[in-house]
Amino acid sequence: MDCLFCRIVEKQIPSTVVYEDAEMLAFRDINPEAPFHVLVIPKKHIGSLAEVTGADEQLVGRMLGKIRDIAAKEGLNDEGWRVVANTGARAGQSVKHLHFHLLGGRHFHWPPG
Ligand code: 5GP
Ligand code: ZN
Repeated sequence: MDCLFCRIVEKQIPSTVVYEDAEMLAFRDINPEAPFHVLVIPKKHIGSLAEVTGADEQLVGRMLGKIRDIAAKEGLNDEGWRVVANTGARAGQSVKHLHFHLLGGRHFHWPPG
């Protein structure tokens, strides 16, 4: 399967890695929408949150726990931060490999539009 984020996992495409372990990778977004913008992805290919199965739910939980840890380590907790998972065409998902955006360093409007 030709998947951009699988290629980033395989290091066929370079990225600036913030965190890596056996099951997930966190790296800087190439086109940041905030002063801090990292993507957290599973190493295994999952198309989106809509395709998460029961077997993947603990992995997704660990990804959110790692997002919490990265946000704390980066000093984002005082000002606040946001997690986004665009899911499907109407939400603007452009890469069909599950990813959480972790955004920080500026004010975020609500509703997001
Ligand atoms: P989506 O639009 O699917 O929610 O988010 C995809 C994100 O991947 C976008 O924010 C985009 O900037 C980022 N992105 C796309 N291609 C690359 C790439 O080659 N490297 C990195 N680091 N980020 C990418
Ligand atoms: Zn993939």
